[in-house]
Amino acid sequence: MQTSITVALAGNPNSGKTTLFNNLTGSRQHVGNYPGITVEQKEGYRLHKGQGILFVDLPGTYSLSAYSVEELVARDFIINEKPDVIVNVVDASNLERNLYLSTQFLELGLPVIVALNMMDMAKSRGLIIDHAKLETLLGLPVVPIVARSGKGLDALLDTILRITEKTQTVQPLRINYGADIEQALQDLHPWLSRCTSLLKLYPERWLGVKLVEHDTQIIEKVRACSPEDADKMLARCEETANHLQQTLAVYPEAIIADQRYGYIKSILRQGVVSTTLVKDRLYTSDRIDRVVTHRVLGPIIMALVLFGLYTFTFSFSGSMVGWLEEFFALLNRTIDGAMADGPLKSMLMSGVVDGVGGVLGFVPIIMFMFFGIAVLEDSGYLARVAFMMDRIFHFFGLHGSSVMPFIISGGIAGGCAVPGVMATRTLRSPKERMATLLTVPFMNCGAKLPVLTLLIGAFFSAHQAWYMFLATLLSWVMALLAAKVLRLTVLRGESTPFVMELPPYRFPTARGLLIHTWERTWQYIKKAGTVILGISILLWAMMTYPGLPEGRVAAYETQREQVQAQHAGKSDAKAFEAALLAVDAAEATEHLRNSYAGRIGTSLEGVSGLAGIDWRTNIALVGGFAAKEVIVSTLGTAYSLGEVDPEESTSLSRRLAADSNWNAVSALAVLVFIMFYAPCFVTVVCIAKEAGSWKWALFSVAFNTIFAFILAVLIYQVGRLLFLN
Ligand code: GDP
Ligand code: MG
Repeated sequence: MQTSITVALAGNPNSGKTTLFNNLTGSRQHVGNYPGITVEQKEGYRLHKGQGILFVDLPGTYSLSAYSVEELVARDFIINEKPDVIVNVVDASNLERNLYLSTQFLELGLPVIVALNMMDMAKSRGLIIDHAKLETLLGLPVVPIVARSGKGLDALLDTILRITEKTQTVQPLRINYGADIEQALQDLHPWLSRCTSLLKLYPERWLGVKLVEHDTQIIEKVRACSPEDADKMLARCEETANHLQQTLAVYPEAIIADQRYGYIKSILRQGVVSTTLVKDRLYTSDRIDRVVTHRVLGPIIMALVLFGLYTFTFSFSGSMVGWLEEFFALLNRTIDGAMADGPLKSMLMSGVVDGVGGVLGFVPIIMFMFFGIAVLEDSGYLARVAFMMDRIFHFFGLHGSSVMPFIISGGIAGGCAVPGVMATRTLRSPKERMATLLTVPFMNCGAKLPVLTLLIGAFFSAHQAWYMFLATLLSWVMALLAAKVLRLTVLRGESTPFVMELPPYRFPTARGLLIHTWERTWQYIKKAGTVILGISILLWAMMTYPGLPEGRVAAYETQREQVQAQHAGKSDAKAFEAALLAVDAAEATEHLRNSYAGRIGTSLEGVSGLAGIDWRTNIALVGGFAAKEVIVSTLGTAYSLGEVDPEESTSLSRRLAADSNWNAVSALAVLVFIMFYAPCFVTVVCIAKEAGSWKWALFSVAFNTIFAFILAVLIYQVGRLLFLN
């Protein structure tokens, strides 16, 4: 005789498990107790198409946490006895609640069949359930049945045989639990990955989630497995719990539950359940969603919200930016007055103050922008944006789960491609993931913001918010087009259905908003204070040395003497001073051009000139590969080295606006080039890591730079024909 298959029947209390069990197994039942406890264990046997099937009726549970004996029994049975398949009995008339348990089987990576029970009840309540759609979205077989009448049971048995015929590996479901918990899970990885004995039974991510949930049974198991790391792991979870308590006033368990429900909601919302009756019991969140994610109203609201964000940011930060600029100008005047001329003074003024000051000057804008984003994120609106964008994303060969990486990378302006690249891990299809990975650096990350703001402020100051909005729109359009190109060529392949978490709306707490804003702003300041300071000084040195040859310095000295001789005895002090300054400026410019950085910049000018980009900007763009923030600081240094009069220290944006090499057309070309050229060095390293090969990282550098350059040349050449001359 063939060995029989073991099938576990699991589900919520009253979902109809026992009814199904009785109907399937008839009288061939055996009732016992689970070893050591008084929870009843029923087993029954059924022969179907020559195959023996042993059914085990598990205790009814709503969840698989460790809160009750029933939950533990169900969980332990599934883990230790390893049934060949789990039939998850689900009450079709109450899907949202019932599928909560299903998500947990899926997170364990177990083979599951959903038996959609009580279809008769659902029908009489006016619910229409598209079980085929549910099947695609959940990614597992869904069989509609009526346990009481026996309808659909043959199909269910057939499915059981089909599933167990071949041993298959099921990828555990990954639900995104939000930045804080995801970070904790990532931090737990090095420790958990060493618990090899536990990893034979549980997926690593699931163990991590359980630790964050403070599941006592799993804590004990982890402690037994690696006594030396357990406390560190718990401390790490504690940290996240405290942080969530402080920022959102919730426990991690609540967030985890919310995200699971969100996942289900997003599935059901895609036309799985519709009704023939008038809806009168919509919850507040659902009511809001009816408007906010409406086909027509939704995108309009989204555009208004984004535009509002920029208007808010620029109108509130304007005067603060001015004060900071004043402050750094004052600092430079002080240094200028207090120190003797020399390399140290030049380094402090041009390398440190102009460089770092240029970056810090944008702190107010960044701060207000981050504040606005924190409001959108904490309230739950951002998840709706992702939900709405999914349809568009599909068209371009991406996935709804690509939206979050895009937003994190700066899709609403002000993010970072590094966590964005990491966030692509939620994508299950390798090709969609690759396409997302390669296009997220197109977004306007927090480091590009200062450059965009600088150029927009200098050349298009009349409509700052509009231009910022357009820049965001452009970044999305280009990223999507590039993705489409990739998906039609090197990354050709199928697309997968969309499922994302739609957590309920929450009122953001003031405290949470402040902490989130501050965390991100502080990250930016810290970067300016360390990495940027280092690069800024290095670039200053490259822009200062080797200096002009003796002969040229002497030549300028001679010129100065000539000027003095010409003006001797005349009373036009102003003209005299101007003539002297002109000589100074010429010397400074030649000095910069002759420096190491200047030579690089000049040698690139032949090519970059096609896009109207001059040699000084080239220096900044090369520096920008190290970190995009450096672009502003390098421009600051490059243009202050050639500065004519330190007494009239003006802001960089005014200096650029006045420079003959710059105009609105070239500014636009540079702006677009900066938006799309090679990702910064750190991002490139992350892409290599995530893609598993340096080939893709190098590809992204080359692809993006060429793509950006073509755009910039187009803008410059067309713009020049239309608007210049
Ligand atoms: P369990 O707690 O999951 O074991 O659920 P039971 O099998 O005890 O069923 C709970 C109730 O639902 C009982 O009154 C059943 O008669 C009823 N029931 C089970 N299946 C169906 C079904 O397909 N349709 C309807 N209308 N009722 C059902
Ligand atoms: Mg029962």
